[in-house]
Amino acid sequence: MEEVLITGGAGFIGSHFARRLLRAEDVARVTVLDALTYAGSVENLGEAMLSPKLTFVHGNIGDAQLVDRLAREHTAIVHFAAESHVDRSFRDTGNFLSTNVLGTCTLLEAARKASIRRFVHVSTDEVYGPLVAGQAAETDPIRPSVPYAASKAASDLVALSYFQTFGVPVCVTRSSNNYGPRQHPEKIIPLFITRLLKGHVLTLHGNGQHVRNWLHVEDNCQGIELVLRAGTPGEVYNIGGGTDLTSRDLTGILLRMFGTDWDCVRYIPDRAANDLRYALDWSKAAALGYCPERGLEDGLAETADWYRNNPDRWAPLLRIPAHAPQPIYHPV
Ligand code: NAD
Repeated sequence: MEEVLITGGAGFIGSHFARRLLRAEDVARVTVLDALTYAGSVENLGEAMLSPKLTFVHGNIGDAQLVDRLAREHTAIVHFAAESHVDRSFRDTGNFLSTNVLGTCTLLEAARKASIRRFVHVSTDEVYGPLVAGQAAETDPIRPSVPYAASKAASDLVALSYFQTFGVPVCVTRSSNNYGPRQHPEKIIPLFITRLLKGHVLTLHGNGQHVRNWLHVEDNCQGIELVLRAGTPGEVYNIGGGTDLTSRDLTGILLRMFGTDWDCVRYIPDRAANDLRYALDWSKAAALGYCPERGLEDGLAETADWYRNNPDRWAPLLRIPAHAPQPIYHPV
């Protein structure tokens, strides 16, 4: 079927997606383009790096010459590369805009010139902003609260404008919060798991009542693959269906899993902005055949096992300062 360029494929979700596509018999070739920021590592691709179908390119989505060439060599692009951590976006907004908006724009321009068959832009439920009640549908207005969400919302709009203006066959996916093995330990679930493994304190923002929908990364990848194969150009698809939980309830599950009590939990002042609740209506993706399969407790147990068994993968990350370059992997 496709020769697929995956940007950000050495990051958390992108590497799960690359491994998944490599298993598909009708996918002839996968190229991962990744700048290997603090958030990316070729180790996330593991044994997939040995696949004759995979090429890894160390490079930046903002490098127009490079992405022009890569776009010409592929039939589809699935775009994960981004700055993805909300807390960092408070102190490094320019970098978020540069990567998430301008980088996406450079990639779209390459897709336009190369007449790419399908461009899947991977986005987030955070673009809808906080919901008091109900679930966000794809037709709802976007009201991002924090710089990360604003940068993703801007990139969604640029991507959709490339469909309207130039006919680039763009689909946008907006998923809820992902979790699973190999996520960077700056995100709450791996942060809490690694702290529990080390016997450290867990810190909860504000009153711990922020509600998120927790989706296993493989379920998100299932949805993204369906959109790649069968999505309608110009359309947005919400990908949710995980479990809605307050951060306090999520913490309670992890404490039970580790046989620990609430003595190790401290409450700290809330983020500068912290949306109270996200929730997604994902019926449009369901109509494509999307059906999340992973239960939260099993998914969390599997995730905790990965961190327990791979301390060499996450312990060094706890010591790397923001934006320190990763060791260079030479492109093939
Ligand atoms: P991540 O931070 O784990 O990975 C991002 C990857 O992009 C890294 O490998 C990094 O090296 C790479 N990258 C960053 N800037 C780059 C650039 N300029 N050029 C090339 N590569 C670059 O992120 P993730 O959690 O895997 O998220 C992937 C995508 O999914 C992002 O677009 C994010 O906004 C979106 N998303 C994430 C979640 C979530 O819960 N993690 C939820 C919804 C949507």
